[in-house]
Amino acid sequence: MRIDLHTHSTASDGTDTPAELMRNAAAAGLDAVALTDHDSTRGHAEAAAALPAGLTLVTGAELSCRLDAGNRSDGVGLHMLAYLFDAAEPEFLRERELVRDDRVPRARAMVSRLQGLGVPITWEQVARIAGDASLGRPHIATALVELGVVETVSDAFTSEWLADGGRAYAEKHELDPVTAIRLVKQAGGVTVLAHPRAVKRGRVVPESAIADLAACGLDGIEVDHMDHDEPTRAGLRGLAADLGLLVTGSSDYHGSRKSVELGACTTHPEVYGEITRRATGAFPVPGAGGAPA
Ligand code: AMP
Ligand code: ZN
Ligand code: FE
Ligand code: FE
Repeated sequence: MRIDLHTHSTASDGTDTPAELMRNAAAAGLDAVALTDHDSTRGHAEAAAALPAGLTLVTGAELSCRLDAGNRSDGVGLHMLAYLFDAAEPEFLRERELVRDDRVPRARAMVSRLQGLGVPITWEQVARIAGDASLGRPHIATALVELGVVETVSDAFTSEWLADGGRAYAEKHELDPVTAIRLVKQAGGVTVLAHPRAVKRGRVVPESAIADLAACGLDGIEVDHMDHDEPTRAGLRGLAADLGLLVTGSSDYHGSRKSVELGACTTHPEVYGEITRRATGAFPVPGAGGAPA
């Protein structure tokens, strides 16, 4: 069984529509795939309707969180994967909407900053690229590629442009991770801390913070991820064992906005089984053949 528990569609900053993503996941030989768009569940219905036979959809989201500034970890941003929660649970739904909706004024602020830096970017251009997606820096980065300001989306994530604290960076509303864990659990879901050591994204979550989150009910950590080298993965496996956390592996596929392929990293079937046992908010959706392409 090949299981990939972290992917993005056009409902956030991926480039495959949810339906295309499901077809590509089947073509990549996956048996189960989680759709985890940033702060959004908007792609789930389309993905479920397009599911090829033999592929199971795990509904999910990747939540934008930040450990409190002033805390020992000094305001580090982190991503929390949430699986199989009840998307209609009102308190969690409201919080996701707050985070997602705040991405719009925040993107407008980044566009203004870029204009102030002499970049001929327009809001209309970014809005066209993003469509109705949960708006993110990769959409703005794509505009910068179109304008020839940078060569690749990744090249826009530097202090010169869009990296955390960069010249054109603007903050967005983010959840406190302990609150996120509580909200997901309240909605019957399971939480996995995404890529805790993805250094190049400025998202290194200290061990003490991971221990605190484990004490607050975190279920697992994403160990096998392309942004973690082997020694990092070994260290995280040890930490997970010490803290009694599940270990997952996933691609964090974004279509053509990133070079990683579906199934580049995978999750052990036993861990997947445990995630589905713990979840009470929603069930994995078995493929029924899918809508015609
Ligand atoms: P946002 O959620 O708008 O703050 O944008 C963060 C997203 O940008 C992440 O979830 C990644 O998908 C993407 N990202 C962050 N760093 C990089 C990078 N160095 N290269 C490419 N994409 C990145
Ligand atoms: Zn993303
Ligand atoms: Fe992430
Ligand atoms: Fe992601």
